[in-house]
Amino acid sequence: VNYAIEGKVVVITGASSGIGEAAARLLAEHGAKIVLGARRTDRLEALVSEIRSEGGTAVYRELDVTRREPMENFMSFAKVTFGRVDVVVNNAGVMPLSPLAALKVEEWDRMVDVNIRGVLHGIAAGLPLMQEQGGGQFVNIASIGAHTVVPTAAVYCATKFAVRAISEGLRQEMGGSGIRVTLISPGVTESELADTISDDKARESMKEYRRVAIPASAVARSILHAIGQPDDVTVSEIIVRPTASP
Ligand code: NDP
Repeated sequence: VNYAIEGKVVVITGASSGIGEAAARLLAEHGAKIVLGARRTDRLEALVSEIRSEGGTAVYRELDVTRREPMENFMSFAKVTFGRVDVVVNNAGVMPLSPLAALKVEEWDRMVDVNIRGVLHGIAAGLPLMQEQGGGQFVNIASIGAHTVVPTAAVYCATKFAVRAISEGLRQEMGGSGIRVTLISPGVTESELADTISDDKARESMKEYRRVAIPASAVARSILHAIGQPDDVTVSEIIVRPTASP
């Protein structure tokens, strides 16, 4: 497949591990200029040197998606460094699962802040740049949980349903502007996502569920596929999951 990736400036939030990291590697291999953001800058620094040593182009900057200002600075950094922003991959996310009755209200807030507000901040910071350029693309990472709800995942799924709604609304409103919107919903994928689960029962059942996980590189291929289409083609939604999933 002859993907149209070469030279595109791709900004990735949550690029310090898992799916974001895998996407950064794969897109850099295909000639994209990558801007990596996350809180763990040691990870980002190591990833940037690795990409560069393999002939790719990448820079990083510390980013907390829950606040508007760091996101604005992150996006300006991308624009100043490479002159434009072609793609924003809103990937940063957290998943501290628990039953609602456990009342882990701070964890609910955290999920809302990272998974919903983070995506909105990415859109708010990226959209004006894309409008000025007359084109661009948002790739928002939701989840199978954007399509279905399971016990212990009510709030997580709610945040991902929200990402799906926001993405669909944005896609409709952007019609004719040259700005594309893609929603990618992965099933269980190898990453550090389950590490933040503080509820014992939820953590145990996740272990079982995660046994069939696909590698993060599999989700990265879906991101590549959506970004690599010609400008007049939008892949609006992809669900990618383990073959062994029920
Ligand atoms: P990881 O935990 O490996 O990666 C999550 C990334 O998000 C990290 O790079 C982390 O970086 C970043 N992040 C978390 N909080 C913030 C914040 N406040 N500001 C900036 N970055 C932040 O998990 P995944 O790779 O699996 O997760 C990526 C996306 O994929 C998430 O949206 C997740 O919901 C989604 N997803 C994952 C699935 C899976 O099974 N793995 C299935 C379906 C969807 P740092 O801590 O350095 O800031």
